[in-house]
Amino acid sequence: MKLEFNNPWTLEGVWLKGNLHAHTDRSDGMLTVKELIDAYRERGYRFLSITDHGMLTYPHEKPRDILLIPGEEISVGTSSAGTRFHILAINIEGELPVEEGDPDESPQRVIDLTLRYGGLPIVAHPYWSGFNLQDLLSLENYIGIEIYNTTCELNRQRGLSTVHWDGLLSNGRRLYGFAGDDAHMERRPGLPPDIGGAWIMVKAEKPTVEAVVDAISRGLFYSSNGPEIRGLNIEDGAIHVETSPVRWISFVSNPTLGLRYTAVRGEITEAEYRVTGDETYIRIEISDIYGRKAWTNPIYVEA
Ligand SMILES: [Zn+2]
Ligand SMILES: [Zn+2]
Repeated sequence: MKLEFNNPWTLEGVWLKGNLHAHTDRSDGMLTVKELIDAYRERGYRFLSITDHGMLTYPHEKPRDILLIPGEEISVGTSSAGTRFHILAINIEGELPVEEGDPDESPQRVIDLTLRYGGLPIVAHPYWSGFNLQDLLSLENYIGIEIYNTTCELNRQRGLSTVHWDGLLSNGRRLYGFAGDDAHMERRPGLPPDIGGAWIMVKAEKPTVEAVVDAISRGLFYSSNGPEIRGLNIEDGAIHVETSPVRWISFVSNPTLGLRYTAVRGEITEAEYRVTGDETYIRIEISDIYGRKAWTNPIYVEA
């Protein structure tokens, strides 16, 4: 039995907080490019990808103290629910030659084009889009899916897509899980700001766009909308995790497998799982007392 995991907690480098999904007033967001960048910088974010719909928004002037990764969100095709596939194209070297919103365009072509443009394709908000597992299994070569999307959660209670992730992983797919804001900063009563609600923590060799993108492509990050994962160690078939104080720590795996530890009272900050060898993957998910979560990428078990 062999455990496969690119472990960001045991690698040298710097942890950088960032968001890969946000909109400006160039598409359907409310903030200008400058206001959006400032809002993330003020919240301590170290990188940001602006992903306006069907266009590449990339300011000529490099902002201070925050890395900008060029990006775009493309909505095409038709799912079994009749919705479009929204694909995030992160770190593309130019605008993709695709007609935004075309129901007859193939989402697979958008994924392949993203790769050809040097980018990382991510399938956005599966639950919000109403995708079933077949919709997601019909596509290939994307590096991950959005497992949590702030604005989908705050607006429609459809932000959490970990069920889709587990379905894909249980079917043998190897995919990263991304949390992101999808910030629009729309205003209405009862809607909190959708900036700063979810992020990824990337362990990069150094704080440059190239190093951050390289780390993401190798899975050297975890996702969160609150708690911290402070350490992860794999030794002799046991996975040990250390966290900020949380209510539960769960080792999520194939159907009927895995294990969750819940604090009977108070909070816990560590847990351990002994791999049985029946799993094909194990991922760690934690939740604080407010229900905010963090998610590691999957650890794969090779027979
Ligand atoms: Zn979208
Ligand atoms: Zn979006």
